[in-house]
Amino acid sequence: MKILLVDDARSVSVLLASRLNSFGHEVCLAENGLIAFAKFREFAPDLVLMDIEMPVMNGFEATDRIRAFESSQRWAWTPIIFLTGASTTDNLVTAIEAGGDDLIAKTLPEAVLRAKMKAMTRVATLRQELAAANLRLEDLANRDGLTGLPNRRAMDLKTDAAWASACNQRGSFAILMIDIDNFKKYNDFYGHQAGDDCLRSIASAIAQSVKDSELELAFPARYGGEEFAVVMPRVARAAFELLAQGVVDAIRRCAMAHEKNADWGIVTASVGGAFMAQSEGGLATLFRSADQQLYVAKENGRNRFELTDVAGAAAADRAAP
Ligand code: GH3
Ligand code: MG
Ligand code: MG
Ligand code: MG
Repeated sequence: MKILLVDDARSVSVLLASRLNSFGHEVCLAENGLIAFAKFREFAPDLVLMDIEMPVMNGFEATDRIRAFESSQRWAWTPIIFLTGASTTDNLVTAIEAGGDDLIAKTLPEAVLRAKMKAMTRVATLRQELAAANLRLEDLANRDGLTGLPNRRAMDLKTDAAWASACNQRGSFAILMIDIDNFKKYNDFYGHQAGDDCLRSIASAIAQSVKDSELELAFPARYGGEEFAVVMPRVARAAFELLAQGVVDAIRRCAMAHEKNADWGIVTASVGGAFMAQSEGGLATLFRSADQQLYVAKENGRNRFELTDVAGAAAADRAAP
């Protein structure tokens, strides 16, 4: 176990550390709460043994900081055991109230300390397994099983958050809706298995285009069926257009045979995009506009992109006579 041992009394920490080392634990030392908080982030311990009375920052304040830091992370709760001269009932209650998990006497007999650390190791192992399992589940819930792209649920969550922040800062925002051309015919002619493979290739072509765009905030998603989306928070108008073109080209460059796709003979997609220079109002307007442009792209012969600029609600009001 990785143990962060915090005590201002060198005699205490040296003795405890050597015992903990002898039980096979890795120990990192800190002599006050402030240093402990810095080391906590660096060392990522499985357990913190924390003295209460210390100069600069005491153990309770340091615990407050650690708990606040952990609350911004997912599934994080590192056990903190306070070290005390006297482990009275009152002290124990105070320690738990302060965000600790237990309180032990610094003079604890070696056998008791060893047993407590053994129990904490079990807790730490389980905690790590649980955190890993939760992260895996979270990933499964957010990823589309076929293509590996963020699924609709993940896209909605991420888009809403990005939109709220864009509106706050009056930043730009853009959406691309991507729909494979004549995909029903592809399935009918090549079979659903081949259709699935095609969707996977298209998903990675889209993902690669987004990556190549170097737009830090942009992300692709599987919108549903054979439709994909790219969400672009805080994007320049030119970069938005470039990415729309990039996606159409990248799918074409996959050069997957599609005998039933009109004149093209390969798999192509149509893209509809909507751009708002200053985010405001409802996000639905932007999606609706992108969808309308997708329809226009289909009408205009497919294998192309059509884009539009959308004014926010307030801007539209100002423009009205
Ligand atoms: P358009 O050019 O107008 O978009 O024509 P289309 O044939 O692509 O449009 P339509 O919406 O009629 O057909 C979409 C097809 O996408 C129908 C459906 O079977 C197929 N599809 C949707 N999801 C999947 C999937 O996960 N795997 C496979 N193989 N096919 C899918
Ligand atoms: Mg002390
Ligand atoms: Mg469709
Ligand atoms: Mg289609």
